[in-house]
Parts: sequence; structure tokens; C-alpha cells
Amino acid sequence: MATAQPPRHKHIVLTSHPGHSGQDSIEIKWGEADPYERGPIIATLGNRAHRNVIGTHSGGYAVYRALAIASGDLEHDHRADLTDTAPTVSIGPHPSWTVPDKIISLDPFGALDHDLFADLRTEGYDIRPSIAITKAHINIPELQEAVTQGRIRVDGKILKEGGELVVTKAAIEPVWYLPGIAQRFGVRESDLRRTLFEQTGGMFPELVTRPDLQVFLPPIGGHTVYILGDLEAITDPDRPLAVRIHDECNGSDVFGSDICTCRPYLVHGIEVALETAQVGGAGVIIYARKEGRALGEVTKFLVYNARKRQEGGDRADTYFTRTECVAGVQDMRFQELMPDVMHWLGMTRIDQFVSMSNLKYDAVTQSGIEIVERISIPEELIPADAQVEIKAKKAAGYYTEGDVPDATVLTQTIGRQYEDGL
Ligand SMILES: [Zn+2]
Repeated sequence: MATAQPPRHKHIVLTSHPGHSGQDSIEIKWGEADPYERGPIIATLGNRAHRNVIGTHSGGYAVYRALAIASGDLEHDHRADLTDTAPTVSIGPHPSWTVPDKIISLDPFGALDHDLFADLRTEGYDIRPSIAITKAHINIPELQEAVTQGRIRVDGKILKEGGELVVTKAAIEPVWYLPGIAQRFGVRESDLRRTLFEQTGGMFPELVTRPDLQVFLPPIGGHTVYILGDLEAITDPDRPLAVRIHDECNGSDVFGSDICTCRPYLVHGIEVALETAQVGGAGVIIYARKEGRALGEVTKFLVYNARKRQEGGDRADTYFTRTECVAGVQDMRFQELMPDVMHWLGMTRIDQFVSMSNLKYDAVTQSGIEIVERISIPEELIPADAQVEIKAKKAAGYYTEGDVPDATVLTQTIGRQYEDGL
């Protein structure tokens, strides 16, 4: 890349670490507005001197990569050819990207937009995206039903004849800025690092040996974001925004298990997102890979058995007790990190928040995003077997109820308001 321009990375600070050949590593200054000031995330295993983080890309899939290398299917120094992989739409930068502590669990520059860091990659730095953005068509059978029942309409652009929904989707890997994570949870960074080291069975010794490395790529699932409608509407105060943050439940989301309300909630969220997109706004579904309240599916299925086999069968009053007996806690989702995705998208106000969870509501509003209305799922969409879960959550204060009108009525009202205003 011969160019007369001065190199963009003129501000890069080279650091060295005692006992390590880190002279070529680029310092990360978390929260800096200029991505070159901030510095790229470099988790390469090719040239270890370039590494400026703990962990590797692709989270838990790194173990499969190791298997592929061990079995001879993959070269240990394979470099990704990123030709034509750039995002289909550009997200940000938004003011929230540089507000201290707003985003600490993902890399806002992770999509490598506009050939970001291309010159450094040409110089031999193995810089990989932690975010990928693409366009897709999705087809949800329940939406066809909703069309038949007259709840939603085909517009030919966002929802096509035949049920195809046009979306932009983004996959986001977690990138943790450890001082920020420690601060958000009110713990000492050294305690956080030691506990992460211990609870991963010593997988990441640098957590305790390299306090100078402040960024950690944890081996956990990230987020997938589905955006319906016009991307610009997400940050436009004059256009409506609907959001559902959904925590993964494979049994219900994919396989239609009727013991919980997850898929009905997800589909209802998509329906509200679509209606908002169709009146000129945007609808966003944020899908978090946190199976079984982040306890995992084995724990979840053990709890299902414990709930059903207890004296008197599955009951709302023991729903959480049984979970706690098996897992030690009722819930490990830690919604405190969840609003980071919303801040990455530049959200400052959500008109329709498709969830009645107080944990989610509190996390979002305390992070500085206004929520205008909360939308509950219509009763008729809740499967019979899931009533135990709903009752238990109501009794435990999971939800706020009372003055929330029927979702469909509310959606139509807000839709009309904005249609009138456009
Ligand atoms: Zn579920």
C-alpha cells in the first residue's frame, strides 16, 4: 500500500513487557475515539510478540480449531483471507463508543469497517474481526400465521410474499476490558482476574501473570443482532425503535419445547419489531448466547427432572428453589453486560421494549437508555405447560405488571402515532 499520506498509525505506542518479547505489540487504550489511538485487538497465535490480549478469537470454538490442527486438517499458522468479508452496512461510530465505561464487553471497532487497520495488516499484523455484519432472509412459520390472522401485513419490502423477512444481522464475539468489567461489578480487578483464572481450570495463566494485558477474549458465546427496517432509525429520535433482548433457549427457540415461553416470546418480539419497522422505524432482536440462564443445558435438564419428580409435581412455588439446589443460584445471566450491544448500535431511547423482565429493564435504563413502553406477551401465546414458569417469575418479582396494555393494542397505537407523524 504505497501512499503519500502519513501512516495512520502514527500515534501507536509500542510497549515492552519484562520477560516477554512484546516490543512489537500495540498498546490498547480502551475508550479512545480514534481506532488507531485505541489500537487494534490482536489475538494472533502466529506471531506471539504481536499479541495484546489474553485468549483467542472465536471463544469456545478455539478448542475445535486445536482439534483440527492436532489432526492435521488445519495449518497452525493459517491466516484468514478477509477479501470481500467487510460489513454490508456500516454501524457507528456513535458517541456512546467513547463514553467511559459504556462499552466494556465487546470491541466497538470489531467489524473492521472501511478497511480499518488494513495498513497494519499489510505490515504483517494478524488483525481479525470480532464482529461480522451481513444481510439475510429469514422465514418464521408463526409470522405466516400472524399474517393469516391479520395481526401483521406483507409489505413486499421488509416482509415479502411467502413469509421472507429481510434483515441485517451481526454476530458479535465478547471482548472484555477487564478494568471496566471489574468496575461494573464492583469487584477488584485482581480478584476478578484470579477468579476467572481459577474457574476456567487455569486455562488462561496470563490473567494472573500479565496484569499489563487488560483485554480478555473469554471462551463464551456472544450476541447475534437481527435488525429489521432502516438502520438509521435506531439513532433517529423522530422514528420509533422496538427492541427485544432474548437469552438463548435451544429447547424452545429451535425445538419448540413447551415447558417455557422462550420461542413465543422471541416470535412476539420479531412481530413487534416488524410492525415498528413497517411504520418507518427499526426493530432489533438481540440474541444472547446464555443457555439456561447461563447455567447451561445440562443443569437446565437436571432442574426439569427435579421440578417434575418432586412431591406434588411441577409447582410455581418451588420453581426457583429447585434451580438453586442444583446450580447454587437461580440465574447467572448478569444482564449488567447486556446493554453494551445497545450502546454499540447507538441506542439512546427504546420506544417499545418487548420484555417484562425487571432485571433487563433495570440494566438498560441504568446504563442510560430510556425505555418508553414495556410490552408483555399476549396471554394466548403462552403454552399451557409454561404457566408454572410464568407464575413462578411473577411471584418472584421478575415482571412488572398492571398498567401495561395489551401488546397488540399498544403496538397499533404507537404505529399510528408515528404514521401520523411521518
Ligand atoms: Zn426456555
